[in-house]
Amino acid sequence: MDCLFCKILAGDIPSAKVYENEWVYAFRDINPQAPVHVLVIPKEHIASADAISAENSAVVARIFEAIPVIAKQEGLANGYRVLTNCGEDGCQSVKHLHFHILGGKKLSEQMG
Ligand code: 5GP
Ligand code: ZN
Repeated sequence: MDCLFCKILAGDIPSAKVYENEWVYAFRDINPQAPVHVLVIPKEHIASADAISAENSAVVARIFEAIPVIAKQEGLANGYRVLTNCGEDGCQSVKHLHFHILGGKKLSEQMG
């Protein structure tokens, strides 16, 4: 499959691993928007938040269980932002579900 993050999962494209378990992989964004910018992805290919259903949503729980572990590991004791861009209007550039963890500074109040 021609998916950048599936290639990262396969090890075909190198990435800076931050966390991994059976269901979830997390790595540093190549173009960080904050001092800490980690991407958390399911190992299963899901195209976007818009493709989450009753059949595949269990992995979303696994992702959100991993997020506090990653945040603690990254020293984000003062808080952080979790976001996912979805589709054209959401400016999603990689069509494999991913959650951005942003932190390490006071973030903008703007979100849209
Ligand atoms: P999106 O815009 O789809 O929400 O987020 C995609 C993110 O993937 C962007 O923040 C971009 O910097 C990051 N990204 C794109 N290509 C690569 C890559 O090859 N390696 C890593 N680590 N991040 C990437
Ligand atoms: Zn994929």
